[in-house]
Amino acid sequence: MNIHEYQAKDLLSKFGVGIPAGHPALTVEEAVEGAKKLPGPLYVVKAQIHAGGRGKGKFKELGPDAKGGVRLAKSIEEVEEHAKDMLGNTLVTVQTGDAGKQVNRLYVTDGVDIAREYYLSMLVDRATGRVAIIASTEGGMDIEEVAHSTPEKITTITVDPAQGFMPHHARAVAFGLKLEGDLNKQAQKLARQLYEAFMALDCAMLEINPLVETEDGNLLVLDTKMSFDSNALYRHPDVEALRDETEEDPAEVEASKYDLAYIKLDGNIGCMVNGAGLAMATMDIIKLNGAFPANFLDVGGGASKEKVTAAFKIILSDPAVKGILVNIFGGIMKCDIIADGIVAAAKDVNLSVPLVVRLEGTNVEKGKEILDNSGLAIVSADDLGDAAKKIVAEVKQAA
Ligand code: GDP
Ligand code: MG
Repeated sequence: MNIHEYQAKDLLSKFGVGIPAGHPALTVEEAVEGAKKLPGPLYVVKAQIHAGGRGKGKFKELGPDAKGGVRLAKSIEEVEEHAKDMLGNTLVTVQTGDAGKQVNRLYVTDGVDIAREYYLSMLVDRATGRVAIIASTEGGMDIEEVAHSTPEKITTITVDPAQGFMPHHARAVAFGLKLEGDLNKQAQKLARQLYEAFMALDCAMLEINPLVETEDGNLLVLDTKMSFDSNALYRHPDVEALRDETEEDPAEVEASKYDLAYIKLDGNIGCMVNGAGLAMATMDIIKLNGAFPANFLDVGGGASKEKVTAAFKIILSDPAVKGILVNIFGGIMKCDIIADGIVAAAKDVNLSVPLVVRLEGTNVEKGKEILDNSGLAIVSADDLGDAAKKIVAEVKQAA
């Protein structure tokens, strides 16, 4: 789960991290009120969307010469102008895709005089089973580009979770940022605070870009992105409360309400499968037959009629879907119960695309009988290979 910049900064400040003062705003009035509480004379008005690259982004409605989603302002009047310009408009950045994201929130912050920009992030490194800390002197830029063209400017430090964050890790971070004297000490302290926040909040990723050295010699977090391990959210109701569903894919939000694991993909064959491994195999075999899956969907072990219906509706909400392949292995669930669910759901949603069903397992004969007698144009398949061939053929024929 991702959160907004202002929320992440709020969380980090509780760990003692240095952050410029700021106030979130949903309206132009709130933006002006927020700015009045800041010392000035420099303010920054920042679009709050779950995507980076805002500074270099473009507003769809404003034309190519308009400023992006992070704007400096030298007066309260200018803050007001920027807020009017941004709120309600669509910001397109390298991370939003062409559709862009509507800006519904702003963050008005105290403007900082920047001497240098750095990069610092932490993430769970699955290869080493550790937390990886990535530090670079090349802040404010696209880190993928830095990693590609000047990899020597990136330092990676890993922390063994059993050992925890040690003073040598802090020194390695400060060294990686090439900081000396008091700034070096500040960087060591910051690295420890960030690690503490990362572990305490069950983060998946915490990125500071840029981390800045101010003209008066302080290290400040100017921009941050945080994402959390969804499986650990139950331990952090305060973090879960920060979820902004308007920033997420509507189909994925709907799926999470029914505890369905759904991820939209680019193809045209919708998949409904029980078990993540079987779902992966199903996608593979669709590709093997020359077509592409429209989604990953794992209905889980206890697929009730309600869950199956919700899954059908979510799959069909994607206009690209031209056919559905249901692949269920009735282990704990019995095939006849699943067949009942499929028939009821197909009737309920007025299914208009070809549907191929492959059932296997307990009570499979009863299940097939229910499908055959349903009066619906459901194509039964005997095994996974047969099912994939049939759905690909059906979709080609319908096209
Ligand atoms: P992003 O484009 O979404 O990554 O948004 P950032 O918050 O990182 O802002 C983009 C850039 O705007 C930064 O790299 C800075 O160069 C600039 N910027 C942001 N805040 C300030 C500020 O307080 N003072 C100055 N001078 N520049 C800022
Ligand atoms: Mg940034």
